[in-house]
Amino acid sequence: MPPVTGRTYLAIPGPSVIPERVLNAMHRVSPNIYQGDIIDITHRALDGLKQLAGTRHHVAIYIANGHGGWEAAITNMFSRGDKALGVGTGLFGVNWARTAQSMGVEIELLDFGRTAADPARIEAALRADTERKIKWVTLTQVDTASSVRNDVAAVRASIDAAGHPALLAVDAIASLGCDELRMDDWGIDLIVGASQKGLMLPPGLALLWLSDKALEAARIADLATPYWSVLPRIGADEYWRLFGGTPPTQHIYGLDEVLKMILVEEGLEDTWARHRVLARAIWTAFDAWGAGGSGIALNVRDPGARGHSVTAATIPGGGAGRLRAWLEQEAGVTLGIGLGMAMSHEPQYADYLRIGHMGHVNAHMVMGVLGTMEAGMCALGIPHGAGAVEAAARALSAA
Ligand SMILES: *Cc1c(COP(=O)(O)O)cnc(C)c1O
Repeated sequence: MPPVTGRTYLAIPGPSVIPERVLNAMHRVSPNIYQGDIIDITHRALDGLKQLAGTRHHVAIYIANGHGGWEAAITNMFSRGDKALGVGTGLFGVNWARTAQSMGVEIELLDFGRTAADPARIEAALRADTERKIKWVTLTQVDTASSVRNDVAAVRASIDAAGHPALLAVDAIASLGCDELRMDDWGIDLIVGASQKGLMLPPGLALLWLSDKALEAARIADLATPYWSVLPRIGADEYWRLFGGTPPTQHIYGLDEVLKMILVEEGLEDTWARHRVLARAIWTAFDAWGAGGSGIALNVRDPGARGHSVTAATIPGGGAGRLRAWLEQEAGVTLGIGLGMAMSHEPQYADYLRIGHMGHVNAHMVMGVLGTMEAGMCALGIPHGAGAVEAAARALSAA
């Protein structure tokens, strides 16, 4: 291969590719934070964030990554000793529940491994809670480790079918702006998001949406601390109170640009549709590579349970690890490690990888990843079925 020149491509599930126009929008000196256009821009961004999540209720911005967002959620949901049903469909769902547990919440973990949540089992677990101790069900919409996508509306329906008063909290960090998400229509009480995935921004903003019921829960949650409490942030007029201190000014400029791109220019539904088309092209390639007993396989068998922003897959015999190294060194493409598929010290860790296809992605980026992956498989002698790149091209052409 010729040496790596040209633009590199970080095809991991966050941080994602930041559009040049977003970088440019952020490339400004810090404004007067007490008055002027930054205040108007912030309020416009808050409105846009509500539109993005499909809610007319409440939203708050924290300066944190996704893990900080988890804690923001937990502190506003619970008092010490409260109980929750944690639904696990991969490492992230389990870790969110474990984080709550470490903060004093009693967790009943319903772990589906690396497959989608079964609403019938959630309903059964809630029916078994005859004393109605479970306050919240926590769910990951798309688990970035397994690439499982859960049917959020079906989980809500299972709570209702059990006649249980539990509220529903959803981690949409990996799916926000990529996969269909309708907070109010689907009866979600709380959503956690972050800036560095489908929102195409640098890490640094954690986002929290709350229903009226969730806000009521926040008023009595004794885990809340001065910074993480949502109460001063919601409906606050004073700009610094919205942010619990110095506002993240450059991130706000970037967020305003991103929301314009998604909500005004492309349109939210078309943004979701683009992610579906590109994801299907990737899945089609993997199906072709997996033919003939190569052992290459997508983690999620059921296409209806796959996230459209990230794809986790197996390339056995250490193939995934070798391929990742080849792509980075020879082709300037960085793929994600196989997080949570095996412990990092186990040799089979090298059998898994993930491709991030969230946010600022298009057909040529996806075809570039698939084409260079195929080149790497050839160069490394990794067994694979033929015709994957052509199959992906046909999938795109038919979309
Ligand atoms: C990335 C991610 C997180 C963690 O976010 P960080 O910014 O890495 O702390 C949590 N949940 C999901 C679903 C994610 O994709």
